[in-house]
Amino acid sequence: MRVTTAFNRLLDLDGVNVTRVEFEPDAVVVTVALRRRRLICPECGWSTRGRYDGRPVDSLWRHLDLGRWRLEVHARLRRLWCPTHGARTEGVPFARPGSGFTTDFESLVAWLATRTDKTAITRLVRVTWRTVGAIIERVVADELDPGRLDNLFVIGVDEISWRKHHKYLTLVANHQTGKIVWGAEGKNAATFDGFFNELGKARSAQITAVSMDMAPAYAKSMLKEGHAPDATICYDPFHVVKLATDALEKVRRTHWRILWDLGDKTTARKFKGARWALLKNPEDLTDRQTEILTQIRRNAGKLWRAYQLKEALRAIFSHDVTKAEADELLRRWCSWAQRSRLEPFITTGRTIRQHRTGILAAIELGINNGRIEGLNNKVRLIVRRGYGFHTAQAALALVMLSCGPIDLHLPHERTPVRPHP
Ligand SMILES: [Zn+2]
Repeated sequence: MRVTTAFNRLLDLDGVNVTRVEFEPDAVVVTVALRRRRLICPECGWSTRGRYDGRPVDSLWRHLDLGRWRLEVHARLRRLWCPTHGARTEGVPFARPGSGFTTDFESLVAWLATRTDKTAITRLVRVTWRTVGAIIERVVADELDPGRLDNLFVIGVDEISWRKHHKYLTLVANHQTGKIVWGAEGKNAATFDGFFNELGKARSAQITAVSMDMAPAYAKSMLKEGHAPDATICYDPFHVVKLATDALEKVRRTHWRILWDLGDKTTARKFKGARWALLKNPEDLTDRQTEILTQIRRNAGKLWRAYQLKEALRAIFSHDVTKAEADELLRRWCSWAQRSRLEPFITTGRTIRQHRTGILAAIELGINNGRIEGLNNKVRLIVRRGYGFHTAQAALALVMLSCGPIDLHLPHERTPVRPHP
């Protein structure tokens, strides 16, 4: 078998013939020629037989490694004149326009990005993190389900910090599928306006309920004419429980500072270290954290009361409750918070009472807390992994890649290898 024939089968690239194979010190360089005669616009697929000029464009792409070798594909391309896009270098069937990587290589990087961390990817595939960002942006633009904004009825909107120093993304989830369907940089009413603009009037009118946190920005946008003014506002359990978690954290911080100021440094340090023991769900605690919790309980006092309040609120939503039951339980919880003599919980009780209708609406509509919490945790994990991306677009692409309606396949899982004679 000739070496070019062998490489034709090994590389399995669409629409080309291998014409030459060379070994360089750190890479295998494979030269290919396009089989088709027509020139195709890489942007729109428009095709022509005529060249724009005689100037050849020497191009190269990185393909999947071959053993320990990096593999480069080289080709001499032609230029064409597209009526829409003007002068362009012709597109190739095995790579996305503007990319220096083959589609197979990009599929591998995208799949890895949803499953492993920055260090592992950059070391394994030998590209920079910035390049990983550019690759996943292309894959998402290409592969995300184009129908993701159709048939949205019950949605959730939330903000997430994608980088330190107050850099936020707004994400919209379809509660029926549990997928993130839209995202943009920012977290104010104008950001959410962008979602409704993209959706258009007809699709916006189909929305029956929107779950959100208790900050006013998203509701303000939703209530605008032409958006979804008649949809029910729901305050989902995830955000309600978060109020209590934040209140508990405030109590803990005040508590250890008081001990510190009183000169009780040892106990103060203990409470400083108790943060995770208090905030985690009891079923997720390590042995050491359970022990810390037992100590706090033995000393009773404010912090234990705060912890019990937080857990009691969480318990209301962790079982299937009817709207009437939830109403009664929330009422009891609020009066308990009111009597707690813990300032942060008194405030939380007041907030919950003010938003009672929206909280009960979430329960009535069956907006499942476990699912929202699951999606939230997944998004937060992904974003933490993406910390260090230079742009909001790259961070957003990583979220959509991992939590959006998209089917990722590894190179060997795509259409079966073409039969060879
Ligand atoms: Zn074109």
